[in-house]
Amino acid sequence: NNYLQQIKANTHLNVFNEVFGDEALANARALDTRLKNNEPVGKLAGMVIGIKDNICYKDHKVTASSKILENFTSIYSSTIVERLLAEDAIIIGRCNCDEFAMGAANENSYFGPVKNFADETRVGGGSSGGSAVAVQACMCHAAIGTDTGGSVRQPASFCGVIGLKPTYGRISRHGIISYASSFDQVGPITNSVEDAALLLEIMSGPDEYDATLAHEPVPQATEVKKETGKKRIAYLQEALSSPGVDADVKATLTTYIDKLRADGHTVKPISFELLDYLVPTYYILAMAEASSNLARYDGVHYGYRSPNATDLVTTYKKSRSEGFGKEVKRRIMLGTFVLSAGYYDAYYAKAQKVRRLIQDKTNEVLNEFDFILTPTAPEPAFALGLKEKDPVVTYLYDIFTVQASLAGMPAISLPAGNNSKGLPLGLQLLTKKFAERELLNFSEYFL
Ligand code: GLN
Repeated sequence: NNYLQQIKANTHLNVFNEVFGDEALANARALDTRLKNNEPVGKLAGMVIGIKDNICYKDHKVTASSKILENFTSIYSSTIVERLLAEDAIIIGRCNCDEFAMGAANENSYFGPVKNFADETRVGGGSSGGSAVAVQACMCHAAIGTDTGGSVRQPASFCGVIGLKPTYGRISRHGIISYASSFDQVGPITNSVEDAALLLEIMSGPDEYDATLAHEPVPQATEVKKETGKKRIAYLQEALSSPGVDADVKATLTTYIDKLRADGHTVKPISFELLDYLVPTYYILAMAEASSNLARYDGVHYGYRSPNATDLVTTYKKSRSEGFGKEVKRRIMLGTFVLSAGYYDAYYAKAQKVRRLIQDKTNEVLNEFDFILTPTAPEPAFALGLKEKDPVVTYLYDIFTVQASLAGMPAISLPAGNNSKGLPLGLQLLTKKFAERELLNFSEYFL
């Protein structure tokens, strides 16, 4: 009831595409009865969770915040929803996001932008903006987002909450609406490291429906403890020298570097030689995969079909032209371009090679250091409408988050205080594949 009231009082923030109010209350009451009768309950009993609207939940709508799926209802649940429900979580609704998770401000949603609870003239971040603001504004206890190039971490940093992108292959993508399949990863947005650890534990592990999943042991939430050992930490020196990084963001990073050193950790600057290639490589590959994944929305199989279609070709053309938003169309076109004969080797194949180099070089750094510390984003939450006009400016915004995505490594955004205007700032820690336990242990240091 408390969460539902908070949602109702803040509908203008546009956080939820749909609230499952009655259903959530009924599930909460059923759980109360089981508790009263001393029946056993799951590890998430009573945890109220919002899910990003690209996560399938049987018999509920799922839209990816796109007109093309506006009236589409899931016929099955994603593996993660099944796992959350099996542990008695209560799902309170579907959270607004960028259309097909493409964006960094939640301004590409067909259902309109999400506003930041700290300052309603500013964005909540993206693409999981609804999920992050839902946690920031106490509309649920925790939320689930997806992170392809930063979409859990960046909105978490804009909202002063925790956002974890696990290792690629940690959490099943079955029933998650695909954007770029070799990057997409589900992640929790929470107020505490304990909750992030618990949700990671519940959602992780092999699933017969997703062949990319690893069989590595899943870190148990009970094993996560505040780290006391001394760590070796690399920080990106460009984060302090680049004119594109906000002064408060630089000051926050400096404060933490000094504090870490004073506490006996080894902290050294590094310069990542492939820094300039991170964003272009990510966008070439993500757009290529998106153009392929979104081919399935043809006006026949799923969702919207144009009433103006007269034959097969106009069914495709008009349904897609009318159903997709501008940014999605731009990415389908660019993705198709980099995959087309004559350009494939120059763009797509080249980007795949650069991706491998980025992975190798990142591993080299992590052989010498335990973590790489960067800001999560170059600036705090920006004003609504500010960056919409120039997509390249928005793409560059992902500079700190895409490295972990390209390398398939886990990374977490941690709240690091507010600037003088009261806007949250976030720092990111990145580490080796499947080292989420070490990552979560050390995260407590920042809280
Ligand atoms: N901003 C990035 C993009 O638009 C990341 C989005 C995401 O992680 N889903 O691709």
